[in-house]
Amino acid sequence: MPIIKADLDLCQGYANCVMEDARFFDISDDGVVVVLQEEFAKEDRTRVEAAVRSCPVSALRIEE
Ligand code: SF4
Repeated sequence: MPIIKADLDLCQGYANCVMEDARFFDISDDGVVVVLQEEFAKEDRTRVEAAVRSCPVSALRIEE
């Protein structure tokens, strides 16, 4: 099952991913992304891919 991975060293806290889908992404008090659920259903793939693409520093990826 594919999962969402975030590179916290790259994340700059722009929150584009949160705006794409707040069910999967949040920003911590430290200002970096929190992946709320790593696993996602097939029907959420388009949304998750959009969130991954929205990240200006490529801190998100889907691991197949
Ligand atoms: S869009 Fe990228 S840089 Fe912004 S909070 Fe999400 S993972 Fe971090």
